[in-house]
Amino acid sequence: MSRPLFQPQLVAAGETVAALNAQFRADVAAFRLQFSCRDCAYFWPSKRACTLGWTVDALCAEPIEILDEKGEPAFCKAFEPAGS
Ligand code: SF4
Repeated sequence: MSRPLFQPQLVAAGETVAALNAQFRADVAAFRLQFSCRDCAYFWPSKRACTLGWTVDALCAEPIEILDEKGEPAFCKAFEPAGS
């Protein structure tokens, strides 16, 4: 399957998915980035589920992997910071 036209190539020549995921984990720690379901107002912790019905596996993965093995990003357009 080819990459959709609207999706940028996030893994440049010479980079690896593992290295980019490691850099993202470092950035999350350094800047306290909030992006996962655990940080979202729609997350239901006791059921480890999204109250909107989306799957949460990718955004709750430990260790954090913002890119999957194909280099495609995991993100949620419905994310709502829990503290807002
Ligand atoms: S809205 Fe998105 S980020 Fe929030 S809990 Fe559901 S799947 Fe996770």
